[in-house]
Amino acid sequence: MIKVLDKSVADKIAAGEVIERPVSIVKELVENSIDSGADSIVVEIKNGGKSYIRVTDNGSGIEQDEAETAFLRHATSKINTAKDLNSIETLGFRGEALASIAAVTHTELITKTKDCQTGTRIIIHGSEVISNEKTGCPDGTTFIVTDLFYNTPARLKFLKSDSAESSQIIDFMSMIALAFPEIRFRFINNGNIVFSTTGKGDLLSAILSVYRLSEYKELVPVDYSLGDNTVTGYISKPSLSRPSRRNQVFFVNGRVVSSRVIEKGVTEGYRERLFEGRHPVCFLFLHTNPAKLDVNIHPNKKEVRFDNESEITALVSEGIKTALNNDVAVIEAKAKPEPVTVFETEPKVVTADSLKNAAPFKVADYIRDDEGQVDIKQILSAKPSRVSETITGEIKQPETAEISIAAPVNRPFDFDELRPTGAIFNTYITAVDDRCFYLIDQHAAHERVFYEKLVGEYMSDEKLRQPILTPIIVEAAPSVMELKDEWMDSLVRMGFDISEFGGNSLMVREIPTFMSLSEAEDFLKEYLDGASDGVRSPNTVVINKLITRSCKAAVKAHDHLSMAEIEGLLKQLKACRNPFSCPHGRPTFIRFTMYEIEKMFKRV
Ligand code: ADP
Ligand code: MG
Repeated sequence: MIKVLDKSVADKIAAGEVIERPVSIVKELVENSIDSGADSIVVEIKNGGKSYIRVTDNGSGIEQDEAETAFLRHATSKINTAKDLNSIETLGFRGEALASIAAVTHTELITKTKDCQTGTRIIIHGSEVISNEKTGCPDGTTFIVTDLFYNTPARLKFLKSDSAESSQIIDFMSMIALAFPEIRFRFINNGNIVFSTTGKGDLLSAILSVYRLSEYKELVPVDYSLGDNTVTGYISKPSLSRPSRRNQVFFVNGRVVSSRVIEKGVTEGYRERLFEGRHPVCFLFLHTNPAKLDVNIHPNKKEVRFDNESEITALVSEGIKTALNNDVAVIEAKAKPEPVTVFETEPKVVTADSLKNAAPFKVADYIRDDEGQVDIKQILSAKPSRVSETITGEIKQPETAEISIAAPVNRPFDFDELRPTGAIFNTYITAVDDRCFYLIDQHAAHERVFYEKLVGEYMSDEKLRQPILTPIIVEAAPSVMELKDEWMDSLVRMGFDISEFGGNSLMVREIPTFMSLSEAEDFLKEYLDGASDGVRSPNTVVINKLITRSCKAAVKAHDHLSMAEIEGLLKQLKACRNPFSCPHGRPTFIRFTMYEIEKMFKRV
């Protein structure tokens, strides 16, 4: 017998598609609040959102006579005709969320428009309207959703632990707060304020409010365009890196995405600046023509596909390189390693009483990873000071402590202002400019120069060679000779004239112009040693690796440099694409600002 399902059964089934877990509810409600034009949104959850979710906004509100309609399936104010589907600017448009949420929870809606004297309060249990009455309330909308899946026990069983569910909500809230820095977000978990942003529109403040790590104060701004595409945001200097990509956040046209193509651009942009296996911190916002973007390859829209992947990779890597070649990217020495502290952003909030008991929020209490770095998730899901129960239906504006950080000025590093003063330990060049003192690792600097010349030589068509009086004979292991067709050509391309000399010997008659004889010899030995390491098909990456390794061995530290040599080295460093780190990612420069030096002497 074929029957039409009754409404509540149909709603429950449909709800399963939209509402998988508590975070789906938070997402739908917060997106509705954003669509309503709110500039202040409070989200409160308890027990990972299973027992309680409240979202309060100061947006448009819903008209009294429309409030119940909003809960009907396919009820939306956001599109009228199918044609509108092509020009959607709001976050939600399917008109399914409220119907789905109401089907599997106890939902309460309190809402008022600006033009109306009184507001509306509706209570719905599992799609059934329990009450609909007038009420006094502020402008805007509050949804209180309790008892998730109370009427679908099978779904309830699939939920994870409270902390696992709240961790997903924390992730979502963090991302949405970054995506909308012009909206003031306050997020409360089990009575504790997780974060509170200022809503002043400044991304770096939003990042600092959400993550509360003082090391993020040093992030470097990115702002770059290539063709139709732009990338903006903040990235870490090479001195701040992590063992995983967990601290990389990407937005494309306002939505959080994961994307291998963007990750590739990041890796490319930091090439030679980080040790292998280290990852920078990045918050990158890409804007690209929506027509060249497919967001639907994954149902939760996390994955995107770009029409022109290489364009996007280039955009990101060039944007990063440009940002890192600026003055702000030079590593700075600090008077005392700043403890990773949390900002005093704890809102003086909710009730005066709660404040008195509020213990300061210390990161030291939370777990650091194996490198002493603070685990952000830990901080965010940990329990800071207690705040008391909150309001319903009303936004009390917490006085968020201001985090004022002067946004770093992006300007190029001026090598011409640098005045070398000598060298210490035969290893570090000392130099000053008007504001700062510098130590420059002469070995790392030399290695950088050497490396860029080699790669440049390799890439260029004209080889500059110098003949040597007595040819060098070098020997290579039989396994290396076996592969000679694969590496011989690349040595020739680097500027060596090299040929077989019988047995396992090779004769070198010419070397690149910028190498000394001993450097060339050391370089070749090192290079040939590495050449058998499973290098089957040499491509640029492999060759780059070999060059990097060989440079290290060829360039000697502890050489006493004359003042003229120091100046020469700095001049060559200036000409480098990537002057601030050696090819292995170690810094070439460390800067001591006058302020930091004065701090060490307790003058400031
Ligand atoms: P959609 O967002 O896809 O339109 P929803 O089911 O999420 O569908 O919401 C239905 C309608 O309810 C929205 O189109 C909007 O008119 C109204 N609405 C929901 N939440 C809010 C809110 N916080 N403020 C104002 N209007 C809202
Ligand atoms: Mg919606």
